[in-house]
Amino acid sequence: MNFKKIVRPLSLDEAYHDVIGQEKGIVIGGGVFLRLQKRSADLGIDLSCIESLRMIQERENDFVIGSMVTLRELEKNIQLPRSVCQSVRQIGGVSLRNLVTIGGSIWGRYPFSDIITALLSLNSKLQFFNSEDMALSDFLAKDKLEKDILISITIPKAEYSAFRAYKLNYTDFSMVNLSVSSTDEIRIAVGARPGRALLLQDISNAHTAEELLADVEFGTDLRGSGIYRRKMAEVMLSDLLEEGLLWK
Ligand SMILES: Cc1cc2nc3c(=O)[nH]c(=O)nc-3n(C[C@H](O)[C@H](O)[C@H](O)COP(=O)(O)OP(=O)(O)OC[C@H]3O[C@@H](n4cnc5c(N)ncnc54)[C@H](O)[C@@H]3O)c2cc1C
Repeated sequence: MNFKKIVRPLSLDEAYHDVIGQEKGIVIGGGVFLRLQKRSADLGIDLSCIESLRMIQERENDFVIGSMVTLRELEKNIQLPRSVCQSVRQIGGVSLRNLVTIGGSIWGRYPFSDIITALLSLNSKLQFFNSEDMALSDFLAKDKLEKDILISITIPKAEYSAFRAYKLNYTDFSMVNLSVSSTDEIRIAVGARPGRALLLQDISNAHTAEELLADVEFGTDLRGSGIYRRKMAEVMLSDLLEEGLLWK
């Protein structure tokens, strides 16, 4: 992506003014994925100088993570639910994780995303500059995103949380990934199916990984077939369920 001009606002008001302004500004998080796009835009809005977006705040029942916090910062924070760290530590190398932001990773709604699967099972909520707060599940289900700035992500403290991904090699995208968390209730998310991550519904009557995943659609692409993805997901979920039960 080529920008004719890049601005570095010092406040969210200033940044939002640029987002909705005449020049059709595009928000830059870590800029890592934007950089790969072959198009140009008039204005890039680099959020890196807005200090409040770079903080991780721990509260009694949850954590509030600014959208410009990098994956590396999440990986190193041992207070956060374990699945958050597990989901990011195999994304690219350290240099990539030093640049990539949680905000860009969520806004992109990438179907291959590892962090989205972990955050979905944790029942995370998103805070925006202009729109109402929204559950991550609703954000993923939206047809079209309005122009806005993602400010922060709220992650509840979890009694138990774990993430697994199956990758052909360390730096590859996941062929399939899975996360289980126990907050107010147990939630299971499956991603890289290869479609966007989703939460399993009506899990109370299912007992085995096969039963739990029976209604999930797994597709075929160059990384693997739908049948193979399903099998791998079943193995990973059995493993996580056993670990979760033992942990309690
Ligand atoms: C080589 C490579 C390998 C990767 N491997 C994996 C992997 O294995 N697993 C995985 O999960 N991910 C992987 N990723 C994706 C990566 O983790 C990030 O999701 C991606 O780079 C986007 O994050 P970013 O900070 O670079 O966002 P950017 O590129 O800056 O932005 C992405 C999008 O979000 C918008 N945006 C950014 N921040 C905000 C904000 N605060 N408010 C509103 N809009 C915003 C931008 O306008 C843009 O549309 C990989 C990426 C690369 C380049």
